[in-house]
Amino acid sequence: MSRPLLMIPGPVEVDETVLQALGQPPLSHTAASFIEIFGACLDALREVFRAPDGQPFVVAGSGTLAMEMAVANLIEPGDRAVVVDTGYFSHRMADVLARHGAVLESVSAPAGDCPSLERVESALKAGAKVLAITHVDTSTGVLAPVPDLAALARRYNALTVVDGVCALGGETFEMQAWDVDVCLTASQKALAVPPGLALVMAGPRAIEAFEARRRPAGSYYCDWDLWLPIMHAYQARKPSYFGTPPTNLIVALYESVKQILKEGMEARWARHRKLGASMRAAMQALGLKWVPARPDLCADTLTTIYYPDGVDDTLVGRIGQHGVAVAGGLHPDIKGRYFRIGHMGILCDAEIRQTVAAVEAALKDAGYLGENGAGVTASQAAYEHAR
Ligand SMILES: *Cc1c(COP(=O)(O)O)cnc(C)c1O
Repeated sequence: MSRPLLMIPGPVEVDETVLQALGQPPLSHTAASFIEIFGACLDALREVFRAPDGQPFVVAGSGTLAMEMAVANLIEPGDRAVVVDTGYFSHRMADVLARHGAVLESVSAPAGDCPSLERVESALKAGAKVLAITHVDTSTGVLAPVPDLAALARRYNALTVVDGVCALGGETFEMQAWDVDVCLTASQKALAVPPGLALVMAGPRAIEAFEARRRPAGSYYCDWDLWLPIMHAYQARKPSYFGTPPTNLIVALYESVKQILKEGMEARWARHRKLGASMRAAMQALGLKWVPARPDLCADTLTTIYYPDGVDDTLVGRIGQHGVAVAGGLHPDIKGRYFRIGHMGILCDAEIRQTVAAVEAALKDAGYLGENGAGVTASQAAYEHAR
């Protein structure tokens, strides 16, 4: 059987030119051609993160390693950290912080909601070195109000760390203008590259806080002391070595980043708003309910939908039989009650249409009497009208 269309929240569909870059014979990490590509890629990433004064780190690893790199370099045992808890990946961030000795306060909300600014503020009042935010929690589809939260963190002198793994390159994000100190992501989500790269962008306050540490970072592989000279060398187009960079993946990342900047960040964010609006309109037209508690909490990079009455989690497999891979639930409180559709990266209305048609067909197979065709029609109208 042919490969299904990947509509899970990572890995995502990848452009042909990115795949071609990945499939080339490997370059030496000290070859002039590779040094130029890696250096140019690091420069270009500042534009993608909107962090002209940021220090990028790109290393082999997944998003979880990027989370650990941020935490390991900022937190010393006993430092206080506040976590804005919007789901599964906020829980993971809390675990990573705890592992590195942070004294934690998680400000939680029921699945599908985001804690109020007032509650986050009262947690920050007690003092905190770090405020951790998951921009889009992939388990709930909840989009956190990063600019408001980062402004609060500034007021209480905490560093803002944003897990942008399911957001960066899809959702509007302005690292410098929003006063965010660290943003991290991975290659396989909205950056539209196969899995394998961890990306961290550190702003000037984060680097200062790192330099003021009393003890070295509690992780050898993540230590910025070891990676900073490497990133500086590539930025200066000089050879250098610490851990061998995954050269093929970096060439592929550069290919995708060039495409992202060619499209333009504003245009890319607008396209993702269309993807989100059209998927939500389709689900609404089918009579289904999404997980985020309010429309302003809905991410545009993925949609999380409750199964309708009488339909269970076999729906994910049924959708797969119609050629589209979607994901089951992940948040522990509602795991068996909903499914997730990722729509980030290079997609446009054709893939939304194909996905909605597969969901409709699967719902019909499951005996749910939706209005067949209503979802596709609604998604197309919403795609054209979303701005
Ligand atoms: C996917 C994801 C992660 C973890 O990334 P891995 O590459 O799976 O380690 C972390 N945070 C968010 C928000 C994610 O979506």
